[in-house]
Amino acid sequence: MAKLSPRSTFKKLKVISFAWLLLIVSLPSLAWADLETLRVANSKAWKPFSYINDQNEPAGILIDFWREYGKANDVHIEFVLLDWNDSLLAVKEGKADVHAGLMWSESRDSFLDYGDALFRIEAQLYYSQLALGTDIDLLLNGELEQAIGVVKGGYEEMYVRSEYPNAKLKLYDNNQLLIEGAFAAEIIAFAADLHVANFYLYSSPTPNSFVPIKFLYSGEIFPAVAEGEAELVSRITQGFKQVDESEKNKILNKWMHIETVYPDYLAPMVIGAVALVTLLYIVLLRGTVKARTAELETANHKLTKLSMTDELTQIHNRRYFMDQLDKISSEDRPVAVMVFDIDDFKVINDTWGHGVGDDVIKSVAEQAKNSLGPDIVMARIGGEEFALIAFELDYCEAHDQAESICAAVNELQLDNDLHTKVSISLGCAYYQSPDSRIDLSVADRLMYEAKTWGKNRAVSERAD
Ligand code: GH3
Ligand code: MG
Ligand code: MG
Repeated sequence: MAKLSPRSTFKKLKVISFAWLLLIVSLPSLAWADLETLRVANSKAWKPFSYINDQNEPAGILIDFWREYGKANDVHIEFVLLDWNDSLLAVKEGKADVHAGLMWSESRDSFLDYGDALFRIEAQLYYSQLALGTDIDLLLNGELEQAIGVVKGGYEEMYVRSEYPNAKLKLYDNNQLLIEGAFAAEIIAFAADLHVANFYLYSSPTPNSFVPIKFLYSGEIFPAVAEGEAELVSRITQGFKQVDESEKNKILNKWMHIETVYPDYLAPMVIGAVALVTLLYIVLLRGTVKARTAELETANHKLTKLSMTDELTQIHNRRYFMDQLDKISSEDRPVAVMVFDIDDFKVINDTWGHGVGDDVIKSVAEQAKNSLGPDIVMARIGGEEFALIAFELDYCEAHDQAESICAAVNELQLDNDLHTKVSISLGCAYYQSPDSRIDLSVADRLMYEAKTWGKNRAVSERAD
């Protein structure tokens, strides 16, 4: 077997790499190979119909129309954007296959064949908001000092000159300069195509500074091929029928409102922002409502507690006690109702003053409460009068409880030189099975009996 020299191996590798390179380079063109390419010419500066944008890309209504045409007919579109006259020449001389769109005129008809109209354009007379009210006929008849702005050599100039031969005209080289002149107050009115004017006005910060007030004329925009290309022009006419009407309208609407003013992402962004703000608002609102509800619950709780509590002693008050009494009246279980009153309290008040009197009331309440068994309800029902409800005790237990309260209170000593003792008199009404409404009358009577019997004691009685 012949051995390959390093030199020939290198040569072989070179050939293989070159073949690969060729394949890679030609891949994109292979992809287009089975696609027809159509060279579409138009102006590079006819905003918003056809122009080269800031990114150096073809843009405009006609560009979008032809892109849709390409998609709908599987045709690769190559744009040839030139100066206006050159774009006509390009079609005439075969450097482009078709002119993207233009108005019909006799001179153009001599070297072009037109397809079906793509859309309609119309020219309007635009008036400065500041000049509204000025007589428009005076302006058109040249009886005012001000001139009407038009683009030099444009269809608008031709039209105004023939319809209003006396009108004073100020000529601008292109639409951009025309609008700049209008904004600089060089003119109070201008004649321009609706799409063109709209494009420039809506790209400005004050789109309403000029408004269309008089319709001038309307015309159609046609695609056109070099004269004699009958087959191509009918193919294009058929091709545009493949483009959805809705798609065409979408393009026209988009450019009427200028994409820079209303970008595609604006609507979803606004909806998103609104949704986010709403969500945030709901979350915050829910948080606030929750916090407020908690605050209200706490306040309500406090209020309820306040309404049932005696301020001086912090035990239950008369209202709460009476409610409880109402409730037990219908319960079929033994209950003892007690009332007690501090003995000779006036003397305490009179001797040491009301402040000490209050302290004694507080101490008696605390001492009595500490001597109670569980589930016994105790309340301050008057100045130095208290009441209790004890459940499930038999008569003797109830009496024992009554006596132990008296004993407990009697253990209290006033903090003064005489070490005065405090005592109470207590009445205990015992109901074995309460069958009618219970009130304090029996316990009250028994409390007074205890006073009569010499105070510092409990008097009990079966009340049913
Ligand atoms: P008795 O043994 O018969 O009960 O004689 P008493 O002196 O205690 O007489 P009574 O119960 O009728 O008088 C109670 C007094 O308690 C009358 C009132 O001036 C006084 N008092 C009522 N409420 C308060 C209070 O909240 N604080 C103070 N310091 N005194 C009160
Ligand atoms: Mg009293
Ligand atoms: Mg008393």
